[in-house]
Amino acid sequence: MSMSESTVLGALTDAGAILRGHFQLTSGRHSDTYVQCARVLEDPALTTELGKAMAESIADLEVDLVAAPAVGGIIIGFAVAQALSVKFIFSERQQGKMTFRRGFCVAPGQRVLVVEDVVTTGGSVAEVVDLVREAGGVVVAVTSIIDRGGDKAFDAEYMPLLKLEVESMEPEHCPLCASGIPIDSPGSRRLS
Ligand SMILES: [Zn+2]
Repeated sequence: MSMSESTVLGALTDAGAILRGHFQLTSGRHSDTYVQCARVLEDPALTTELGKAMAESIADLEVDLVAAPAVGGIIIGFAVAQALSVKFIFSERQQGKMTFRRGFCVAPGQRVLVVEDVVTTGGSVAEVVDLVREAGGVVVAVTSIIDRGGDKAFDAEYMPLLKLEVESMEPEHCPLCASGIPIDSPGSRRLS
């Protein structure tokens, strides 16, 4: 059931989670790649498969509980927890502060796997890691479907399913702009 990085990349591309074209990112920079990971989660069978692959990649670690930050981590976190046959909780922001609500908690000594969909710097992941440790839990690892590359804000073992460093450039240095290629909208159906 283990999936190679190329299999994962193919599955994510087929699902429309990784788009190729000419995009303006929220930073204002341009890129030939756009990641819209939520498209994966439209497909329960694929999400289940990725959850199993993520669970397998950390099979050597003893895990008691999966924790994920809302919203991005909830569905894939559930899938990983299901594959590991352990419980699942999620954190959410209350007045800007990440917290476990709804009666969710981490018991002292519990071994926790933190799951996210896409990690760039991992700011939300870092907050979950802190929450788990504040509760006396042990963060055994962090995993995500995609690692967008770059320095991470958390200090824990990180085992992403797919590393996908997306290059971007200032519009004035963009070769796609220089070639006169129009900017694509990620919602556009003609992308493949
Ligand atoms: Zn451009």
